[in-house]
Amino acid sequence: MESAEVTEIIAASRRAAFLSDPSDALAAIDNALITTTQLNDRGKLYLARALAQQGVSNSTQAAADARESVRYLLDAGDRRAATFATACAAGMTQREGDTARSLDLAVDALVLLREEQFLDESLVRAANAMAVMFAQISAFDLAIESSRQAFTGAPTSLDASTRAAITYTLGYCTVEAIRSGTVADDARGAIEEDLDTIVQVLNSTRVHQRERAVLGTGMAAEQILLAFDGPGAMDESSVEAVEILEEVLDLLEQGTEEYDRSAPRLRAWHQLVSASVLLRLREPRRAKILLDDAIPALIAVSDEHRIVRALHERSEARALSGDLVGALEDARQVARLCREWQQHQGERLGAQVAHRADLEWGRLQLRRRTDELAKQASEDSLTGLATRRWLEKELDALGRRDGRGTVVILDLDNFKQINDDFGHQIGDDVLVEVGNVLRSVSSGSISVARFGGEEFVVLLPSAELIVGEDLAQWVRHVVGSIEWQEVAEGLSVTISGGVAEGPLQEVREVLRLADMALYEAKRAGRDRIVTSTDIAEAA
Ligand code: GH3
Ligand code: MG
Ligand code: MG
Repeated sequence: MESAEVTEIIAASRRAAFLSDPSDALAAIDNALITTTQLNDRGKLYLARALAQQGVSNSTQAAADARESVRYLLDAGDRRAATFATACAAGMTQREGDTARSLDLAVDALVLLREEQFLDESLVRAANAMAVMFAQISAFDLAIESSRQAFTGAPTSLDASTRAAITYTLGYCTVEAIRSGTVADDARGAIEEDLDTIVQVLNSTRVHQRERAVLGTGMAAEQILLAFDGPGAMDESSVEAVEILEEVLDLLEQGTEEYDRSAPRLRAWHQLVSASVLLRLREPRRAKILLDDAIPALIAVSDEHRIVRALHERSEARALSGDLVGALEDARQVARLCREWQQHQGERLGAQVAHRADLEWGRLQLRRRTDELAKQASEDSLTGLATRRWLEKELDALGRRDGRGTVVILDLDNFKQINDDFGHQIGDDVLVEVGNVLRSVSSGSISVARFGGEEFVVLLPSAELIVGEDLAQWVRHVVGSIEWQEVAEGLSVTISGGVAEGPLQEVREVLRLADMALYEAKRAGRDRIVTSTDIAEAA
C-alpha cells in the first residue's frame, strides 16, 4: 500500500477516537497492515490503531498496539513519531494497570522529548499523552507541566480536533488538580487563569460544533462548579447562584444531543457535571438518573478521580431524595475505593520512587532547555549578571510583596574617561572584572542586575539598610583593590554607590532614593557609598 493511502486511513481513524464504536476504522487499518511493508508506515498504522481504541473501555489491546508502534517507529528512525507513540503507550499501559512498565515508557518519552528543540504536531501530542498519564497517577504537577507544554507549544497548523483535545486535557488536569487539594496556594491563581483560557478556547468557534457542545459546555460547568467548592465557596441557594447554575444547565442540555455519539468516557463525564449542577439546583432525582448511567461507564474506563466524584454526588442525591440507605451505600463505596486506591497508590509510588531519579533527570534536561531560553532574555552576555529587563520584572514582583527591603545602586567612576584613555576593549574588561565581583555577592535572596552601561543594581529584599551599606562598601573595597595594573598599565578603577531602604510595595521609590544617594556620592568626590539617611541627616 502507498504511503499516501496510509496517511488517508490514519486521518480517518483519528476521527474514530472520539466515537464509541471504532470498528470501521480498525477494519480499514488491519486491511492496510496486510499490504504495508514500510517500517515507518507500519508504525504509524499501529499507532492509529491504538488511538482509535481510546474510547473503548478495555485498554489492553490499545496499549499493545501502541508499544508495537514504538518498536516500528524507532526501527524506522522516526524519532518524533516514536516519541509520541511512546507517550501514548505510557498512558495506555498505565490505564491497563501495569504501572512499572508505564513509568519506563514515560521516562523513555521524556528523554526523547528532551532532545527535541521544537515541538511539532507529534511532540505536542506526546506532551499531551504524558499529561494524561501523569494525571491518572495523580502526579498533577507533572501533568500540568506537560499539558501546558502541549497547549502553549501547539503549532498553528494543528487541526481543530487535536487542538480541542489538548485544551480539554489541560482542563482535565487543572480541574482534578484543584479538586485533589494538592495545588499550592501560590500556584492556584495561575491554574485558575489557565482554566479561564481553556473554557474560552473550547467555546470558541474555532472548535468544531460537536466538540464544543461536549467539551466546551462540560468544561464551563466544571469551572462554575469549582466556585461552589472549597474555601470562599459561593452560596448555592443565593439568587445569583441559581441563575448561573440554570444558565449552565441550559448549555449542558444543548450538548446532550451530541454527547450520545461521543466516546463513553466523555459522555460519562458530561453526565457527571450535569448531575452536579442539578444537585446544586436541588434536583436530586434527575441527578441520580444521570449518575446511574455515568458510574458504570466511569468504572469501565477506570477514571478514578471521576468515579469518586460521581459516587459522592450520587450519595448526596440519594440522601436529598430521602433514600438514606442508598446514600450510605454509595458513601461506603467511596470510602472503600479510596482505601483501595490508597494502597494501590502506595504500590504505584513504590514503582515511582524506583524511577523517580530517571524521571527527575528527564525533567531536569527539559527544564534546563527552557531555562536556557529564558536566560538569553534575562542574562547580560558581557557580565553574566541579570539584565535590566529581568530587573524590571523583579521590581514588579517585589512591588506585590509586603515588608521592607534595601536597594543599592553602584556606578563606576569616570568610566567615560577610562574608555577614552584605554579604549573600549579595556572598558569592557573592566566591566567583566566588576561583574565577577558583583556575581559573587548574589545569592538566593540577593540579586544583582546590570542596570545600564556601567551602573548596577543590587536588590536585598527584607534586608536592613546597614546590610546594603556593608555590601556596597565591600564591593567598593574589592573593586578598588583589584590589580588593575595587570589589565592595563596606569589603569585604576573606583566605584560609587547609593543605598536606600523602604517598603517593598514602593520599591521603585526606594530605587529612586538610592539613585539620589548615588548622585550625592558622585557630587561629594566619588569612590564612596552614601545612604539615603546620610542625605536626610545632612538636609
Ligand atoms: P561618573 O563617575 O559620573 O559616573 O562618570 P562616567 O564617565 O562613569 O559616567 P557617564 O555616564 O558620563 O559615562 C558612562 C560611560 O560608560 C559612557 C559609555 O561610553 C560607557 N559605557 C556604557 N556601556 C559600556 C560598555 O558596555 N562597554 C564600554 N566599554 N563602555 C560602556
Ligand atoms: Mg559612571
Ligand atoms: Mg552612569
